Amino acid sequence: MASVSLRRLGKSYGGTQVVKGIDLDIADGELVVLVGPSGCGKSTTLRMVAGLESVTSGEVRIGDQVVNALPPRERDIAMVFQDYALYPHKTVRENMGFSLKVRGIKGAEADKRIQDAAEMLGIAHLLDRRPGQLSGGQRQRVAMGRAIVRRPQLFLFDEPLSNLDAKLRGEVRTEIKRLHQTIGTTILYVTHDQVEAMTLADRIVILRGGEIEQVGTPDEVYNYP
Ligand code: ADP
Ligand code: ADP
Repeated sequence: MASVSLRRLGKSYGGTQVVKGIDLDIADGELVVLVGPSGCGKSTTLRMVAGLESVTSGEVRIGDQVVNALPPRERDIAMVFQDYALYPHKTVRENMGFSLKVRGIKGAEADKRIQDAAEMLGIAHLLDRRPGQLSGGQRQRVAMGRAIVRRPQLFLFDEPLSNLDAKLRGEVRTEIKRLHQTIGTTILYVTHDQVEAMTLADRIVILRGGEIEQVGTPDEVYNYP
């Protein structure tokens, strides 16, 4: 069973169609990267899956549920963005725990999830610091930790590396790959960077002008003769 299905998914702003009836199935545990030039509709597509943008036509299905009408909070997803959007006055622990708290997960269960995620990401020693006391790479790990503790059915990444310098980009990219291999979760990942797509993806979807131009493994998409 596909973990995510997009059926004839479309989006228009005013009279202009920017996503033109996309069909895509993402398998359980698969890491799919949406790649393509600026303005091709990657972010709009991701935001429709997240529920941050309304759907003009077609369908978004997560698991066996059509989620078109569900607000973000009621979708079983977590997002990681390029800006980390951490609360500056909360500690790392509080930042990671906040979305659990609002969902009624507290006490020992919350502590364990936070500790496990922090250890997996190598930030357990930073739990009592505030975001201002962290490097960019550490902040992005906290943003990932905040997503992981929720244990969602689907992770959405929107250009998560673009605010990092080249060295950190490599490190965090490796971290994302390891995360995917360790917890085997389904990921939909948006980037304009081909190298990122090639190193991370199980399957690459190339978007152009709001339509799918090509779908395949990194080898099929970039190394065909
Ligand atoms: P990408 O993520 O691939 O760079 P986007 O999904 O952000 O592309 O944008 C796709 C197209 O939709 C672009 O032409 C963009 O200008 C347009 N667009 C995005 N958001 C809006 C909006 N809120 N209002 C009008 N047009 C928009
Ligand atoms: P959380 O409880 O994890 O803070 P919500 O359930 O409120 O998240 O929202 C679902 C997802 O959408 C979260 O991953 C959150 O980061 C993201 N999100 C919510 N509001 C916005 C927004 N205005 N812009 C971008 N992302 C948002």
